[in-house]
Amino acid sequence: MTFTAQILTLYPEMFPGPLGTSLAGRALEEGKWSCNPIQMRDFATDKHKSVDDTPAGGGAGMVLRADVMASAVDHAMERQPDAPILAMTPRGKPLKQERVREIASGPGVTILCGRFEGFDERIFDARPIEEVSIGDYILSGGEMGALVLLDACIRLLPGVMGASSSGDDESFETGLLEYPQFTRPQKWEGRIIPEVLRSGDHAKIAAWRKQKAEEDTRLRRPDLWEHHRDAPDQSPSSARGQKKEDRS
Ligand code: SAH
Repeated sequence: MTFTAQILTLYPEMFPGPLGTSLAGRALEEGKWSCNPIQMRDFATDKHKSVDDTPAGGGAGMVLRADVMASAVDHAMERQPDAPILAMTPRGKPLKQERVREIASGPGVTILCGRFEGFDERIFDARPIEEVSIGDYILSGGEMGALVLLDACIRLLPGVMGASSSGDDESFETGLLEYPQFTRPQKWEGRIIPEVLRSGDHAKIAAWRKQKAEEDTRLRRPDLWEHHRDAPDQSPSSARGQKKEDRS
């Protein structure tokens, strides 16, 4: 099955962009996902093809018109009725790995990219759109956010990552940051790889990694740590089991 990405944007030439190279680029060539950027301006109805207008109540910048956005969204919904529709906006729910996994396990996604001051708020009332933020900072447009979301989804599609298990251990998959990684040379600028990682004792290595993952999460991301500590069971196997159930 091909995961279909529809991107509603004023800059369709930005896609696939960096997703045309490396892991995602190869997957695109192999038909594991398809990239369909759609020019939002094509849905404008006046002779100037305008998609934006001045903000009601005054102020700087321009706002994307709800009527034009709705026509573009309706077109995308007709083409792909089963895909969730996400709008990129700093006012949205912060994107998390759990949501990325859900989207990647579905038929695809439609992404609405904002520009200027963003969207006329009424569009979110009138259409089934999920507002998503990729972090607490302001981009100049939603396209970079769309690329981030798609990159996160594509690496999870079946057969895209080299080793099929390599996604399960990553940061956030178990509610923790990943343990620190090392590689050769064993000694570099006087710094030596932790002894335990050279021991060959797999149980000891696993215990050390678990302890480091917990310690680093506690120190670096107290927000994640608090959540993890309060959750009933966060072992990797149970977390995966839960997600599998959710997907079916
Ligand atoms: N006036 C808006 C920001 C507009 S930035 C505000 O203050 O909330 C222009 C567009 O860039 C937005 O419509 C959105 O599509 C995109 N964008 C900017 N920051 C983003 C973020 N953190 N997450 C997702 N999209 C973002």
